[in-house]
Amino acid sequence: MSKRPNLVRRTVFPSSVSRAVVTPLQPSVVYSSPSPDALDDQYEGRAKGYTYGREGHPNADVLAGMIDRLEGGEGGIITGSGMSAVTATLLGLLSAGDHIVGGNQLYGRSLRMMTQDLPRWGITSTLVDPTDVPAMEAAITPATRLMLVEVVSNPTLRIADMEGIERLAKDRGLILVIDNTFTTPYGFPAYARGADVVIHSVTKLLAGHSDVTLGYVLARDPDHRKAIYDTNVTLGLTPSPWDCWMAERGLYTFDMRFERAQANAAAMAQLFADHDAVETVLYPGRSDHPDHNRAGALLDGQWGNMVSFRLKGGRAQANALTKAAPNLAFAPTLGDVGTTLSHPASSSHRGLTPEGRAALGITEGFFRVSIGCEPLELLQHDFTVALDAAR
Ligand SMILES: *Cc1c(COP(=O)(O)O)cnc(C)c1O
Repeated sequence: MSKRPNLVRRTVFPSSVSRAVVTPLQPSVVYSSPSPDALDDQYEGRAKGYTYGREGHPNADVLAGMIDRLEGGEGGIITGSGMSAVTATLLGLLSAGDHIVGGNQLYGRSLRMMTQDLPRWGITSTLVDPTDVPAMEAAITPATRLMLVEVVSNPTLRIADMEGIERLAKDRGLILVIDNTFTTPYGFPAYARGADVVIHSVTKLLAGHSDVTLGYVLARDPDHRKAIYDTNVTLGLTPSPWDCWMAERGLYTFDMRFERAQANAAAMAQLFADHDAVETVLYPGRSDHPDHNRAGALLDGQWGNMVSFRLKGGRAQANALTKAAPNLAFAPTLGDVGTTLSHPASSSHRGLTPEGRAALGITEGFFRVSIGCEPLELLQHDFTVALDAAR
């Protein structure tokens, strides 16, 4: 026998009569079962037990349970990103020959998946303005199985006709998938209203600190849930425990961050509207928003934290604005605890032609602002300086 101490065998975790207040982080990829019979029980659902990290782990389950409570469902699945949630849903539920009717202003990568990637597997899509339900209905073919929509479009903040879309999905027997990232369950209770599948990019408002990339899928039908879960595990889209732990930590303050950011957004929409460098403000809470009445009925006063505006002028004014506001992060994201600015013409929508952008109302002076939780006076100061510079 070697005289060296054994450092290979794991040490038993110390027990304690007092209990940790914070959720433990469990990084183990592998779990040891007592016997093959016990493993049978785990795999066949007679006993709860983890087996292998890609198939599930406690930190993902804790996080899923919290978002389940927000949406009012159960059995949500955590994925490694918002896009992997979209991927697992579409590849899990659809087969070659199937057709999707999707919103035409979805998240850019969702659009790309539908127009450039899924066709390689024989799944086709038609993209339609989701404020126009007759046009969505006209796009349905005998092969259509699923509709994918977001309630608030990016970056012009148009509001989909969700009542009409919900009715259409029901009448035509289509799976209704709602990407509820922008609205969150506080702005739009997608699952409670009857969506078949709800998706979140947890990366955004839910986790809220721009330090994890995660997604979430909640499916009503157990067969849908199983198909999405298996696709997630097979394609290896599952998340790391650390990211789940971080997102859980962020979620404890989601309620406060949401309220604060939303109140700031209402005040900032007014400041933008009052400033003479600004040509148009797009904010669903304003009576001059094209979908204000629909937003009022759907969002129940929860107008959200997103405000867009068009500057008078073009690229020169846009450059002047970001340069004069170094503390307002010019970064292509949303839902961070701090305010972030996005300029679609140079980022999310740069792949479009100028005519294509013009058709959506995206000029060189167009900014989408994700308002954060800073003290309002600070935001008012920084944006006034920035807008003055863009005059
Ligand atoms: C960001 C985003 C996604 C993608 O999420 P990731 O976590 O970045 O993969 C999907 N849908 C919407 C609406 C988003 O804003």
